[in-house]
Amino acid sequence: MLTFIKNESKSNGELQQARVISLFSLVGMSVTFVMGVISLFNSNNVLTITLFVSSIIYCLAYIVLKKYNKLNLSSFIIIYSLYILMFYLVFTGGVEQTGPLWIFIVAPVSVYVLGLSYGLVNLLFFLSIIAIIMFSPIEMPQYATYSTEFKVRLILSFLTTTFLSALYEYSRMLSYNSALKLGKKYQQLALSDPLTTLANRRNALTILQQEKSRISRNNEPLSVLLCDLDHFKMVNDKYGHNCGDMVLTELSQVFKQSVRQQDCVARWGGEEFLFILPQTSAEQASVIAEKIRTNVHHHKVHFLKHEISLTISIGISQLTDDQNIDELINNADRNLYQAKKNGRNQVYPQQTTSIDL
Ligand code: GH3
Ligand code: MG
Ligand code: MG
Repeated sequence: MLTFIKNESKSNGELQQARVISLFSLVGMSVTFVMGVISLFNSNNVLTITLFVSSIIYCLAYIVLKKYNKLNLSSFIIIYSLYILMFYLVFTGGVEQTGPLWIFIVAPVSVYVLGLSYGLVNLLFFLSIIAIIMFSPIEMPQYATYSTEFKVRLILSFLTTTFLSALYEYSRMLSYNSALKLGKKYQQLALSDPLTTLANRRNALTILQQEKSRISRNNEPLSVLLCDLDHFKMVNDKYGHNCGDMVLTELSQVFKQSVRQQDCVARWGGEEFLFILPQTSAEQASVIAEKIRTNVHHHKVHFLKHEISLTISIGISQLTDDQNIDELINNADRNLYQAKKNGRNQVYPQQTTSIDL
């Protein structure tokens, strides 16, 4: 069967992540730049250079994303440059030992940019390095000293922020996935007929338009079959509407089994069905139509103690260069009317020479 839902080239999730990463890189670039300027006025040369380099790196991450569309590379640049900056701030203490305060932004940024599990693994790595830096007994110039209470509380509060960020990301993921599922379900419902699960009329028209633009490029034939159940009203009148519904559902399965993989069967209206047959001439369509008609004729629907057999009439139409979709369908409808007029349980126009598919 033809695919009814087009795959989007880029998922919504990826687009959303790209938006967040470009925002992070812009915010990171601006904040480190402003901090760099402040540090310049405070004559803290090493910190100034570090912050300006960070600002350039965030700018680079932004360019990588916007110009080269490399989402993963841009995320890695943002995350690992942020980690390195934080290691530096904790190591040196930044301005007046306030450097460690910045590490709290690492948890939410990591889980959001890298995803929940990969983000948590990276946070574990980050926290281990921070703990090593803070609890290291080595005495070095530039090395900031913190009280044990400060170090323990910093790590505990970082763990708490990590837990809350993970929880938030987990619930965000759950709601996102359920919204995605719901969206797909409604999209499917909007395109299919609820009783028979075949493509509905709207979907059939979309497929026809797509096929028409495709064949205008490669000159392939396209045919449609418009099929109507014969004397179907009698089934409803004699056995009831439920039986009528059951007949429609069962025959839909017969239709599907009678066509090729690339064909589409749609419920066009009440007891009318449209078959879209790509790469098929009218002569070839006539063979397929005859096969469908025979399969339906031989199919027995069992309802309570009754055995019901039905026939169908089919009108064939091949799309010509100068025709639009409406004209194609109208032509099939005229041929269907002719098949009914000629006595039902037949295909119109009938195939005159034998052909192989
Ligand atoms: P013909 O051979 O000329 O096509 O005769 P017909 O009785 O099939 O045609 P008609 O148009 O008079 O009747 C079609 C019937 O299809 C009438 C309508 O009640 C029935 N029908 C349409 N949609 C449904 C449906 O979803 N379920 C059921 N059970 N019946 C339906
Ligand atoms: Mg009808
Ligand atoms: Mg009918």
